[in-house]
Amino acid sequence: MNKEVHSGERVAVYPGSFDPVTMGHLDIITRASKQFDRLVVAVLNNKSKNPLFSVEERVELLEMVTKDLPNVEVDSFRDLTASYVRVKGADVIVRGIRSVTDFEYELQLASLNKKLNKDAETIFMMTDPIYSYLSSSVVKEIASFNGDVTDLVSKEVEEALRRKVNEKKALE
Ligand code: ADP
Repeated sequence: MNKEVHSGERVAVYPGSFDPVTMGHLDIITRASKQFDRLVVAVLNNKSKNPLFSVEERVELLEMVTKDLPNVEVDSFRDLTASYVRVKGADVIVRGIRSVTDFEYELQLASLNKKLNKDAETIFMMTDPIYSYLSSSVVKEIASFNGDVTDLVSKEVEEALRRKVNEKKALE
């Protein structure tokens, strides 16, 4: 979905893999959506990461979990984040931080993006402590052993994970 850019609007982009979207991501999306006129949640189409869900599936899941947030739009991109942000008419990149390890990586990324697009500011949002341990990888690991992922992801994501795990098992 591509909503029009209106001048004077504060547009932010929240880029990531979202493989799949977790409650930690959703918390950042919800909080960030209150700070901007529009928030574009953008799935990075990064072939090198060997994702569990296709870009289309990740976009679809994000659309489901953000359906009640009217100023949030979901998109995907292949460009450099710095270029994508410019195309979307955004001047802010939102990223989430869970730990010092996240911080080191995110600082490097933010500095690189600043070098590539000096008009874009990276803004960090601290995780809600209840999600500080939560990542897509953890969720995938638990789901692969048919463990309980309630509270970590939405119902839609839980179902999608179950389907994906069963599909994979059927192929083994
Ligand atoms: P990437 O591969 O770009 O790191 P992710 O989907 O893993 O993509 O994460 C996207 C962003 O969301 C990153 O800034 C990451 O630090 C943040 N994030 C991930 N999980 C959480 C969480 N539980 N709480 C807060 N931020 C999070």
